[in-house]
Amino acid sequence: MTPRQTSATPRAPHAATVIEAGGPVIIGAGLAGLSAAVELAPLPCVVLSAGALSIGTSTGWAQGGVAAAMGADDNAELHTADTIAAGAGLCEPEAVAAITAAGPAAIDWLTEQGARFDRDVTGSLKLGLEGAHSRRRIVHAGDATGAELLRAMLTAAQHTASVSLWEYALVTEILTDADGVTGVLVRTPTGMIELRTAQVLLATGGIGGLFEHTTNPLSSRGQGLALAYRAGATLRDIEMVQFHPTALDVGIDPMPLVSEAVRGE
Ligand SMILES: Cc1cc2nc3c(=O)[nH]c(=O)nc-3n(C[C@H](O)[C@H](O)[C@H](O)COP(=O)(O)OP(=O)(O)OC[C@H]3O[C@@H](n4cnc5c(N)ncnc54)[C@H](O)[C@@H]3O)c2cc1C
Repeated sequence: MTPRQTSATPRAPHAATVIEAGGPVIIGAGLAGLSAAVELAPLPCVVLSAGALSIGTSTGWAQGGVAAAMGADDNAELHTADTIAAGAGLCEPEAVAAITAAGPAAIDWLTEQGARFDRDVTGSLKLGLEGAHSRRRIVHAGDATGAELLRAMLTAAQHTASVSLWEYALVTEILTDADGVTGVLVRTPTGMIELRTAQVLLATGGIGGLFEHTTNPLSSRGQGLALAYRAGATLRDIEMVQFHPTALDVGIDPMPLVSEAVRGE
């Protein structure tokens, strides 16, 4: 997101307890927010979760696994080519190349943080095959990869002294003045808190909850995008949403997702 020309956001009248964050505030405690917090160490930061930690995240629900060119017969260029072919002309090649190149190091980093991926008897990663991939490159932990990543990263964050984790802390506004961001307004069970910081990182997940049919937690309603827009950010490419091709229509909301793995193995 890039800054949008705007006058300072008008401050809503509120009676809030003022707390200095002492560093960046990360909104969201899924894989993105927790990873950022651990990476920022030893810089102090506060991570905010709208509900209980681990609950209401897409991360905890992810099943199939993470694509990365980890196999002996694979490399980032092949992963890039497969992704661009599957993207049917919509991909930004530089972005795809940067993300696929970063994949193996990201898997190694998650492993260092404690994520336990499935391995064979020699200790090598067991790689799954999914739709559109020409190589086996799906790193997984059973069929509950996201739950394992969330467990590992939550444990890592809880053991990182510089990270403060707040649960039941719903951000309702990013506060600004003429010079930029000054903090966030947080609804907590004990009242409103004005958490002061000049650095806010949005890691609020997806927007599936806005749609009639979704496989996302219903709390994924694009709150982060709305908060950013109201604070003056320019939103870009927000129509680029993954519509997962398979879900079970069994009258449950959100719909149970049918993993990408059904189009590979
Ligand atoms: C059923 C399912 C299966 C999936 N399977 C795969 C898969 O196999 N492989 C794969 O690569 N991807 C998969 N995905 C996608 C993947 O899970 C997500 O892209 C990823 O987990 C997003 O992580 P995140 O940290 O950005 O968001 P999330 O994990 O959704 O976390 C968002 C966080 O933001 C917080 N939040 C939101 N708004 C506020 C607010 N206003 N104030 C405070 N906190 C707020 C929430 O409480 C939460 O802590 C799947 C997704 C789903 C739903």
